[in-house]
Amino acid sequence: MADMLTPTRARVEPGKLFINGRFVDAVSGATFNTINPATGSVLTQVAEGRAEDIDLAVRAARTAYDSGPWTRKMAAADRARILWKISDLLLANVEELAELEALDSGKPVTENARIDIPMAADCFQYYAGWATKITGETIPVRGPFLNYTLREPVGVCGQIIPWNFPLLMAAWKVAPALACGNTVVLKPASWTPLTALRLAALAKEAGLPDGVLNVVPGQGSVAGMALVRHPMVDKIAVTGSTPVGQEILRESATTLKRVTLELGGKSPNIIFADADLDAAARGAQSGIFYNKGEVCSAGSRLLVEETVHDALMEKLIERTRKLTPSDPLDPKCRFGPQVSETQMNTVLRYIGKGREEGAKVVTGGNRAAVGDGRGFFVEPTIFDGVRNDMTIAKEEIFGPVLSVIPFKNLEDAVATGNDTIYGLAAAVWTRDIGKAHRVARELRAGTVWINTYGVLDNASPFGGYKMSGFGRELGAASIEMYTQIKSVWVDLT
Ligand code: NAP
Ligand code: MG
Repeated sequence: MADMLTPTRARVEPGKLFINGRFVDAVSGATFNTINPATGSVLTQVAEGRAEDIDLAVRAARTAYDSGPWTRKMAAADRARILWKISDLLLANVEELAELEALDSGKPVTENARIDIPMAADCFQYYAGWATKITGETIPVRGPFLNYTLREPVGVCGQIIPWNFPLLMAAWKVAPALACGNTVVLKPASWTPLTALRLAALAKEAGLPDGVLNVVPGQGSVAGMALVRHPMVDKIAVTGSTPVGQEILRESATTLKRVTLELGGKSPNIIFADADLDAAARGAQSGIFYNKGEVCSAGSRLLVEETVHDALMEKLIERTRKLTPSDPLDPKCRFGPQVSETQMNTVLRYIGKGREEGAKVVTGGNRAAVGDGRGFFVEPTIFDGVRNDMTIAKEEIFGPVLSVIPFKNLEDAVATGNDTIYGLAAAVWTRDIGKAHRVARELRAGTVWINTYGVLDNASPFGGYKMSGFGRELGAASIEMYTQIKSVWVDLT
């Protein structure tokens, strides 16, 4: 029985749409299957929202915003209490949520329980703190006038999220929007709709008024697009791929919505010869293979100074070979299946392309068999001898595939690092403090890590340069994204 996958403990009930405080079927009655990527089998059915369901959800959010208690009648301190209570309920249900996330997305249960769910809970706490600290200014204008600003919510926010950190991405979107007094229609990714629906139930339990948060699973091109086009929606925030972001931006022009975009990346992880090579190898490995490479800010291009290339590769390959794909429900699992069969096939196609273009696989390179072999597992894969103009170095793979690119000197490293359409993140490893900060300034990316990789905190802004999007999530920056400023003039004579 050793190769059997762990039996499921979570009750996985069919998912419904959460509209105006109630779980309902889709108007059409349509449903879709959500799959467990570790086994390839159907986990459960979920109601499939379409334009008419989005319309109902948007109208509920509009009414809640215009005339409900949430935005104008409730004290900011009471909104804060509800957000804090959501956080408490996430933590109280951490085991169930961690397991549900593992089943729906293939993310290791232990990482969900230790990182994703606590960070999502912390996000609600962090923004609970903000609710009472959103203030305007008084401005010293000319003439006998008092001029002050009100920082007001934007209105109804349409939020579209991906499948790689399903609950965490929902928290990053929902918590700041609610803290500012907005109302929300959230569309989770089709591959991972379940934890967002649990979040809706917990928000209701926490006392969130009806209509303030609506969750409508459905296809991006149908439900997502209906949200983008809806005239009653004031803002769209999306985390997803760059092509989808471009389409959403184009479509938003018709109703001139405020748009923030968190898109893809091809982040350079730069290791200089004077770095602590053990730490750098650890950072290189976790930088690409954490969450099976399904990380927007993954360090997918490893730039290594020529003189330490061989030493670094030896350490990196040794570490990577220890990372075995396994059942995400096993508490010891650190590397699960890709989220879907489609995604697995995309990753395998890119591996084939890398070989064709002349890069060399030094470890991994194949689908991996776990249990009965029907899950969507791919081996952690490293390509050496990659040139920055190869497909695997240019395009976001969004899987466990690392491209190693040697460099000669600092200028070469920075130029290659910046030679990408993306600009989400970057890292630099060196013991030379001046060099580290100089390179941090030169890199065109929204986040730069020095001698570490992938650290995030709800208090620090996250987002892209260039085609990785615009707008920032987390920190004070997100409060700006979910508010607008009104200038009020008073005649003092
Ligand atoms: P995706 O295909 O762009 O989908 C993202 C979301 O957009 C999903 O909910 C999707 O719905 C929806 N969608 C798709 N087409 C749409 C359309 N025409 N109109 C409106 N909504 C639409 O991205 P993904 O493949 O799920 O996620 C991976 C991408 O997200 C990667 O590029 C990654 O870098 C990026 N990402 C970025 C960040 C960041 O913070 N910058 C974080 C995580 C991920 P369906 O699920 O139904 O297709
Ligand atoms: Mg699934």
